[in-house]
Amino acid sequence: MTTKVSEKITNNLAEVRQQLQILAEQSPQEQSVQLLAVSKKHSLEAIKVAIAAGQMHFGENYVQEAVDKINQLKDQITEPVQWHFIGPVQSNKTKDIAQHFNWVQSVEREKVARRLNEQRPDNLEQLNVLLQVNIDDDDNKSGLEPEQVNALADYVMSCPKLKLRGLMTILKADTTQQQRQQSFERMFALYQQLQQIYGEQIDTLSMGMSADMRQAVREGANMVRIGTAIFGERES
Ligand SMILES: *Cc1c(COP(=O)(O)O)cnc(C)c1O
Repeated sequence: MTTKVSEKITNNLAEVRQQLQILAEQSPQEQSVQLLAVSKKHSLEAIKVAIAAGQMHFGENYVQEAVDKINQLKDQITEPVQWHFIGPVQSNKTKDIAQHFNWVQSVEREKVARRLNEQRPDNLEQLNVLLQVNIDDDDNKSGLEPEQVNALADYVMSCPKLKLRGLMTILKADTTQQQRQQSFERMFALYQQLQQIYGEQIDTLSMGMSADMRQAVREGANMVRIGTAIFGERES
């Protein structure tokens, strides 16, 4: 990686952090916003640059790619990096996820929750779980219907190796600003409802990506998942 590319990542990170700090002051949650750096399809070198700049939370979508990176990095760094799985979870990949990740943001089925709970190694702390909600009824996308959230939340709460932390959503790609607004508002309402039932352990609402981060935080997100605005375009 050239110096120029690594400087770009460092500068991008500083810029996103600064924006988040300003935005957090306008957020209904009145708290800092956690930045998840989405490193899928980006190199180990790029991740190391971000770690050197103080980034500790990384998101990955593809199990094999992620496990390779996590294993390689383990031998190279001492920082306690937290890995978040944010892609669709296939049942046959739950074991790898349970063994290597700190968070799974894309839980949407009881079967997956059960397997993650059973396969989480005893020597690791609880696996943090967000339930993925399909808030705008996108046919192309996974996620729970809003009215299914409470049942799965109850189930995850009964799993000793899982810790329910909140909700995650990915909005439809082609929506208007107004539709996004409504979807973010509905997510925030669902999140507050979950907090009322389960209390303070529900502390994470993950919504907003590079393109709609500002709007998401204003509507109550306290975790945003940013790839492109930090690492640049991904190769498809
Ligand atoms: C890829 C991805 C992101 C990051 O998207 P950018 O537009 O690059 O910021 C965020 N969340 C999920 C679930 C993703 O798959």
